[in-house]
Amino acid sequence: MSRLPSHARIVIVGGGAIGTSIAYHLAKMGEKDVLVLEKNQLTAGSTWHAAGLMGQLRSKVNLTRLMQYSADLCARIGAETGQDVGWKNVGSLRLAASDARWEELKRAHTAARSYGFDMELVGPDEVRRLFPLVDTAGLRGATWIASDGHVDPYSLTHAYAKGARAGGVRIVEGVTVTGFAISDRRLTAVKTTDGDVGCEVVVNAAGLWARQLGELAGINLPVTVLEHEYFVTEKSPAVPDDLPTLRDPDANFYVKPEPGAMAIGGWEKAARAAHGLGRLPMTFGQELFPDDLDRISEVIEGAASRIPILGRLGVRSVVNGPIPISADGEPVMGLAGDYENFFVACGFTSGIAASGGAGRAMANWIVEGDPGMDLWAFDLRRFGHPHGGLAYLRDSAIEAYSKYYAIAWPEEERSACRPLRRSALYQTLTAQGAVNGVKFGWERPNYFLRPGEARPPLETFERAPHAGVIGREHRLVREGVAMIDQSSFTKFEVSGPGALAWLQWLAAANVDRSETAVVYTQLLNRRGGIEADLTIMRRGEARFHVVTGSAFGTRDGGWLRRHLPRDGSVAVQDVTGAYGVINLCGPLAREALARVSEDDVSNAAFPYMTGREIRIGWAPAFAARVTYVGELGWELHVPTEYMAYVYQVLRAAGAPFGIADVGYKAISSLRMEKRYLYWGADITPDDTPLEAGLGFAVAMKKGDFQGRDALAAQQERGVTRRLACFRLDDPLPVYGGEAMSAEGRAIGMTTSGDYGHSIGAALVFGYLKAEDMGLREIEVEAFGRRSRATLVDRCAYDPEGKRLRM
Ligand SMILES: Cc1cc2nc3c(=O)[nH]c(=O)nc-3n(C[C@H](O)[C@H](O)[C@H](O)COP(=O)(O)OP(=O)(O)OC[C@H]3O[C@@H](n4cnc5c(N)ncnc54)[C@H](O)[C@@H]3O)c2cc1C
Repeated sequence: MSRLPSHARIVIVGGGAIGTSIAYHLAKMGEKDVLVLEKNQLTAGSTWHAAGLMGQLRSKVNLTRLMQYSADLCARIGAETGQDVGWKNVGSLRLAASDARWEELKRAHTAARSYGFDMELVGPDEVRRLFPLVDTAGLRGATWIASDGHVDPYSLTHAYAKGARAGGVRIVEGVTVTGFAISDRRLTAVKTTDGDVGCEVVVNAAGLWARQLGELAGINLPVTVLEHEYFVTEKSPAVPDDLPTLRDPDANFYVKPEPGAMAIGGWEKAARAAHGLGRLPMTFGQELFPDDLDRISEVIEGAASRIPILGRLGVRSVVNGPIPISADGEPVMGLAGDYENFFVACGFTSGIAASGGAGRAMANWIVEGDPGMDLWAFDLRRFGHPHGGLAYLRDSAIEAYSKYYAIAWPEEERSACRPLRRSALYQTLTAQGAVNGVKFGWERPNYFLRPGEARPPLETFERAPHAGVIGREHRLVREGVAMIDQSSFTKFEVSGPGALAWLQWLAAANVDRSETAVVYTQLLNRRGGIEADLTIMRRGEARFHVVTGSAFGTRDGGWLRRHLPRDGSVAVQDVTGAYGVINLCGPLAREALARVSEDDVSNAAFPYMTGREIRIGWAPAFAARVTYVGELGWELHVPTEYMAYVYQVLRAAGAPFGIADVGYKAISSLRMEKRYLYWGADITPDDTPLEAGLGFAVAMKKGDFQGRDALAAQQERGVTRRLACFRLDDPLPVYGGEAMSAEGRAIGMTTSGDYGHSIGAALVFGYLKAEDMGLREIEVEAFGRRSRATLVDRCAYDPEGKRLRM
């Protein structure tokens, strides 16, 4: 008789820390018909050999909250399930051995304080008191998180499993999932070595083999496998029993205390993909790779100079195991592809530390339809087709891995797998001095250097090194005419007899306007949260050109496709590659365009927020009178093959007006002055348009639309938080993530920040809670420096919007 039921509502594939935690949390939510399938035995993937460090602090509030929950759960799950998990709440130190690192830790400290996470800054003496084996020479200080610790990954997984079983979950070991039955957008059954199981939901928690499991459903998950190694020292009476965990990112190593010994690992530069391309065979069992201490020699040397006793302690054992990792080093969670019921939770490099929070978020996602908090940094949809190949994954994951402890310089760009996606203007702009950044595989000009101008250093927290160049580009947009290559915008063509009615239901704004209307809108979830922020350009009765950010193609495209009516009356096609985009902007933009277009581009004939087909020289273009910079301008959507020509023609036409190229750094400064928001930072699924001050873009009277009920209820109650803009007295380097305080208490964190070159001041956005909404003055802290900041009503530049409508 088969050990498997013929049907289970939810099938989780993988019995590691992640799969069992999801099962545990589903059981807690009352889901009884849950089946966990494990090809070997529980923990047999990456989990059994993990060191078990539990660090909670992450770069974003929600990610820290997720980790905090994990640590809280570790502290109580033993008592709840009767399975001791070896939780040792010993605290953690993170050392700073350089000024820059110290700056980074101080910034993390103020950010943590702003959302109530307990963490201290300590000096070298306190470091020595807490970890007496450390040589404090050259140390600037450290952070101390008393609530951190370490856990036994094997026991923790068994505790999740025990709790899950107690809630009715079935866990079957020794069964491999070999395929799926698929119908339309749903997986209807899992095929296994023990027969088929019908199902309503499948969860891919297959860790090291998650990619292969995805392939069984035709999905290329952006996850691979690298080797990761730590060694355990010999025991010595000189090693105290009550050591905390320790990380020395400048020397690239971590320490987990063992009884009378230490486990030491790190994130070596010479990282290696498992089995060449990062693909483990399915037959790989509860195994390790051969020891390779040479590979981590830099880690060993760094550790030995910071903890001198290591030079005298021999190595007792080495663990060189496979570690799952994604293209950017962060986990991958969410719904896969266009499937309605195939969830993934994989690519965890800290899957023990994340397991509790990730398990709860996934259970929420499955049962409630969303993870319960914005998890964009972990969301599968931040990746797309550029990230799917094994070679790409190997190279990008190795870079992410080897920079795990590197200082996150705000201006630094990834360097692996570049240049990959290039606009039709790439060569031209490179020849003109473009300094590129990268977004979703696209090379995009950050700014342009003139001949003889040196490339500014990026390893700094200051904006100053290239502020002059950005200021120059900013002013060109405000005073003259500029071209910005925005070809990386994601574009969708939405068409069909049902397109208008469908968009009316999906969008918060009124899309049913004239056939030349350009509409700025948000797509909302049922809670009224902002899932997407985009522009819908009508190109005919039943044809729309939908434009969204470069990195949001997978996410917004998935949202659109998932909501498509089943009657085939609407089609959605990604046309990103078919069109390049030149943003021609600035008060002299019309003068330049009029010289080369046979169409009437006057304000009367071509008003703000309209779009139409025009000719530029001999070439066709779809021109939309909209920009993200707050000046007169057109986004010119040009069929790719005409791009080089159109650029040349515009450049010649604009020459008498001083036309020049401008990059994305100037856009950032320009949009802050106009209070134009950025999805993923200022607006997320956790925020509604009313909270974000986007009520002007919501058409409550147009009839029903997704999210309308939630907004109506919020309107009735009144918002309890609101996005505000503040202008700083001092030009601190602000990027978003700075602590905001008032009257001596923390009131939140900024969502964005930049220097506004027209107004000559730094600006930040941030949400104020109900009790703080009356504040007109706050303090903003960046890298240990504070500035008074005053509320900006509406926006800092051209609040009437007159310059847009000239
Ligand atoms: C040396 C080392 C040290 C580490 N130290 C730490 C640490 O200190 N802290 C920390 O947080 N993390 C650490 N990690 C990372 C941690 O091990 C992983 O993040 C975590 O184990 C991932 O858990 P998982 O459940 O996602 O995957 P896995 O543990 O790989 O579990 C996946 C399971 O799915 C099963 N499976 C796969 N395919 C199928 C299939 N087709 N059918 C049925 N079953 C299938 C596998 O057998 C496996 O048991 C370390 C990793 C290494 C290598």
